[in-house]
Amino acid sequence: MAKEDKEIKCSFCGRKKQETEVLIAGITGHICNHCVTQAQTIVRDEASQNSGASIFNALHLLKPMEIKKHLDEYVIGQDEAKKVLSVAVYNHYKRLIKSQSKTSEKDEVEIDKSNVIMVGETGTGKTLLARTIAKVLNVPFCIADATVLTEAGYVGEDVESILSRLLQAADFDVTAAERGIVFIDEIDKIARKSDNPSITRDVSGEGVQQGLLKLLEGSVVGVPPQGGRKHPEQKMIQVNTKNILFICGGAFDGITRNIGKRLQTQAIGYNVSKEKVSIDTDNLLQYVSPQDLKSFGLIPELIGRLPVLTYLNPLDADTLRRILSEPKNALIKQYLHLFEMDGVKITFEKGVLDFIVEKAMEFKLGARGLRSICEAIMMDLMFDTPSDATVKEVNLTLRYAKDKLKKSTLNKLKVA
Ligand code: ADP
Repeated sequence: MAKEDKEIKCSFCGRKKQETEVLIAGITGHICNHCVTQAQTIVRDEASQNSGASIFNALHLLKPMEIKKHLDEYVIGQDEAKKVLSVAVYNHYKRLIKSQSKTSEKDEVEIDKSNVIMVGETGTGKTLLARTIAKVLNVPFCIADATVLTEAGYVGEDVESILSRLLQAADFDVTAAERGIVFIDEIDKIARKSDNPSITRDVSGEGVQQGLLKLLEGSVVGVPPQGGRKHPEQKMIQVNTKNILFICGGAFDGITRNIGKRLQTQAIGYNVSKEKVSIDTDNLLQYVSPQDLKSFGLIPELIGRLPVLTYLNPLDADTLRRILSEPKNALIKQYLHLFEMDGVKITFEKGVLDFIVEKAMEFKLGARGLRSICEAIMMDLMFDTPSDATVKEVNLTLRYAKDKLKKSTLNKLKVA
């Protein structure tokens, strides 16, 4: 037996049992801890190479029109934003492939980064669009909130902490993170307070905008793995942002005033033909231009690094009604599924969904409000039904919905 033990070797590297820490037995051979570690590295490298290939494949399969079709499955309306985003993303990954394939030396055309900025009221689908794009392309995605960022030296998070989240989303696979998408929300909250470059430094806004520049244009930055503030003794992970796509979003409250003013001066200042002046004053956001972002308080350098500008429409009752039941993971579909898992078939009486939409409009909660209203209505049903095996069908009536909402704390919003 002792002799046999001595002869046991790793079938891969030939190390004897006593030269290894662990030797795992298989059906016909053995593998040592060294070979397991090495194999793991090979598998990981292979997987990250394949993720590059998957973007390449995705791009070959998904033209802008197809990308938009995918977005249509999850996001209702917002056609203009979808179109602009699909093209921006398509071009961005084309640029990535070009930089990876490094074709002939004569090939001197460098494609610029197509970072995107989306302007639209809160709850109109900006985050959803960015998230869905990342899902379609199967790349790491993270959301960062611009309001928590501060200039180095002040209380708050360093701009680099944005990338910590991306690294976390990519399971610390730096190569994958370097091809990811970052959504920076509330970009309008770091606007300079006035259009005039101030003499005193604007800590909350301009400094952060300056800090973002180097991330957006592409450079190698030291990222604190756990996020937050960088401190000297912490080990940094080097991340190249050259191929990371940044999508920024903001409500830019009050920007329509700037747009209106600009359109008015344009109409007076130039010799424009009468038809061209017809402006849809109900939705001025559709005319947003980089100039308006500047007068809102974004610095020109930042605007320059967000060359693709698009807008989202406010959600009307029809759109809210569609959002409730049409997207692939629509709220109503989710509730049907939740009840189905308990063997219960739930139906909604005619008028219930319109009532939910009507309330969401009344509370001015946008699409986000749909969820809170549904929860308020369904809470008792979701609590009681799973424990009652006799219930196989539930028909949610309009009267029940009205009654539940009336009793909920949500109803207090009406007064606010
Ligand atoms: P924003 O980022 O513009 O503030 P979100 O994208 O976070 O808004 O939207 C909030 C929620 O509302 C989303 O989770 C989504 O369920 C829903 N929603 C908003 N707009 C749409 C839309 N156009 N289509 C489908 N769902 C939407």
